Amino acid sequence: MFIVPNTKMNLSPFTGDVMFRSYGAPNIGALRFYKHFTATRFKPYPQTLKSNPERRRDLVMRQFLITLATFIVVMLPFSARPETPAPATYEVYALSYAVYPSFPVSGLVAGAEKDRKIDLQMMVWLLKGSNGRNVLVDAGCYHESVLKGKPMTNVTKPSDTLAKIGLSAADITDVVITHMHWDHADGMDLFPKAKIWIQKDEYSYYTGAAWQPGGQHGGIDRDDVVALVKLNMQNQVSLVDGDDREIIDGIRVYTGGRHTFASQYAGVRTASGTVVIASDNMYLYENLQKHAPIAQTFDADSNLRAQDRMKQIASRLDLIVPGHDPEVFVKFPKPGNGVARIQ
Ligand SMILES: [Zn+2]
Repeated sequence: MFIVPNTKMNLSPFTGDVMFRSYGAPNIGALRFYKHFTATRFKPYPQTLKSNPERRRDLVMRQFLITLATFIVVMLPFSARPETPAPATYEVYALSYAVYPSFPVSGLVAGAEKDRKIDLQMMVWLLKGSNGRNVLVDAGCYHESVLKGKPMTNVTKPSDTLAKIGLSAADITDVVITHMHWDHADGMDLFPKAKIWIQKDEYSYYTGAAWQPGGQHGGIDRDDVVALVKLNMQNQVSLVDGDDREIIDGIRVYTGGRHTFASQYAGVRTASGTVVIASDNMYLYENLQKHAPIAQTFDADSNLRAQDRMKQIASRLDLIVPGHDPEVFVKFPKPGNGVARIQ
């Protein structure tokens, strides 16, 4: 019980003094007010919201902002991630453009018997990418001045061999030159839209020091050097600076074979694993089987180390493709007609 002043004054019938209704019936109107006051202060908010639309709006807005912030935090990693295309994989084809008959094996495998001969395959390698890139590893040869005097048979212009898998010279986007020898580099001007990838040191040496006193340029055609310089001046050459470089998604080049001053070989991502296009850093399967360096090298130890490394890079031993071995077309007979799908 509490005391509330009575709004209606009462006079004592005995004294005539003003008296308060201390003990009388409570003032119902005042009680209602009090109840309302305490309720407003302490009632849980749902009831308050009914009677306080402003606060209700605030709470709805706060709830909306919390939901929005949560959504942004959860979704940010997904929305911020750039669209990453699937890693490119390649179909790998060896394409024969000529046969060089009765070549002495001792000119290919160090220490081989002098009288052994082999019909060399002259090849280029096509890497047909899921990313639309058609990359040729080496360009073969075709100029009359280069073909002249060489006893090659079954000669086809390297760019014409592409027709066997439905492509033409204009479809080639890139040409990786493993080294500047005439049978690998001479055809590099056959592909009008291609970018040429060559080691920077190979480019520098054969356009410079190789022709100075003490330089070595055996197997290098002067006109091929001039053609390379012209392509460079037309912005069609990309110089690769050293070992273990991914030049195109799924295609990595390596040095150390030292077949020429700075020859390179390539590792290629395929559905069967990594294929290694050794080119002349390993002429024949026999080099690998006998652990014998190639017969023509600037550095035999470096060549052997490169061959050992190829075994680590390739997913299987038979996915290392040698530069001139006719066995490539026996191991991989399909689709045939001078084309071997390496897989
Ligand atoms: Zn060579």
